[in-house]
Amino acid sequence: MKNNIRKFSADELAAEFEKMGEPKFRAKQVHEWLWKKSAHSFDEMTNLSKELRVKMAEQFSFYSVTENIVQKSTDGTVKLGMKLHDDRLVEGVMIPDDERSTACVSSQVGCTLSCTFCATGFLKRERNLEAGEIYDQVVLLNKHALVHNGKGLTNIVYMGMGEPLLNYDNVMQSIKYITSPEGLNMAQKRITVSTSGIVRGIKRIADEGMKFNLALSLHAPTDEKRNKIMDINQSNPLNEVMEALNYFYEKTGNKITFEYILFDKFNDSLEDAEHLYKLTERVPSFVNIIEFNNVTGVDLRKAKRENRDAFVEYLRNKNVSVAIRRSRGKDIDAACGQLANKNG
Ligand code: SAH
Ligand code: SF4
Repeated sequence: MKNNIRKFSADELAAEFEKMGEPKFRAKQVHEWLWKKSAHSFDEMTNLSKELRVKMAEQFSFYSVTENIVQKSTDGTVKLGMKLHDDRLVEGVMIPDDERSTACVSSQVGCTLSCTFCATGFLKRERNLEAGEIYDQVVLLNKHALVHNGKGLTNIVYMGMGEPLLNYDNVMQSIKYITSPEGLNMAQKRITVSTSGIVRGIKRIADEGMKFNLALSLHAPTDEKRNKIMDINQSNPLNEVMEALNYFYEKTGNKITFEYILFDKFNDSLEDAEHLYKLTERVPSFVNIIEFNNVTGVDLRKAKRENRDAFVEYLRNKNVSVAIRRSRGKDIDAACGQLANKNG
């Protein structure tokens, strides 16, 4: 089997080229094409001889992602259906506003987990995305940001399909290239990774000195309730998740974002708000209240407006920093939790 060329670091690539009898500077040029110039094929590498391009194609595979379907929401949100080299599909979203262009990228085809409220969770996990495939989503979404919002990407959130911390190495490699001068040179603080709460992964990020932001899909403030909607909580209970988040905060100084979908009569009482408040006291944090987006076959409903307002007011009175997140791109199934390759 051919090796995926984007698996090699700059040094490893130089060693490969040496084996092929090619000078070192060629490897450097290729590395630049792969990342900084975001090439999608060997043929685009126009400062290399045709002969060398053919030789590379024989030796290496180049798994690039291509745009398949583009949908635009009435609110300006753009959803991209993208095709992988093995014909599998993933989705990514570009969310425009006055100050920002935010890309929401996928980390897996399907998801390893199956939270009861999430459309992606109903898909079977087919495979992890390669770092290069995550990177390509960013490059493609950046083009749409420029066209549709007049500015390139300012923020990237790993909130598309899949659980990023269960594809740890590839996600971290993608972030390294997105943030390095060898790649897109974006600041780590512009990146947010959202996790369902993988304790081991959270600690590892902190230990490896990564400085991006972390969001926890909390959605229920006690083990008892969380176990009912998020299976992962059985093996990664809240107490351990909170300890890991605290460890992350101590190492990075980055506040944690708690994402909390308000479900009608499930987690929207003032008692739930109190439990949530207690969690926020354990680590410096923000709370994002997320509107539940309907998913076919799910019998949870979004909370009533008056309950939501009372919930938010309770938290604000306790000086918790709370934002209510407007849902974007619902008409094209591009909103949180709706990504499911329906057009595939
Ligand atoms: N697997 C990671 C990353 C995906 S992020 C995680 O779960 O954090 C997708 C975000 O959308 C998560 O916060 C998820 O909990 C949320 N979400 C899932 N289904 C949703 C729905 N039906 N309505 C609103 N948000 C949803
Ligand atoms: Fe996977 Fe996140 Fe959806 Fe849960 S919420 S099924 S972890 S994508």
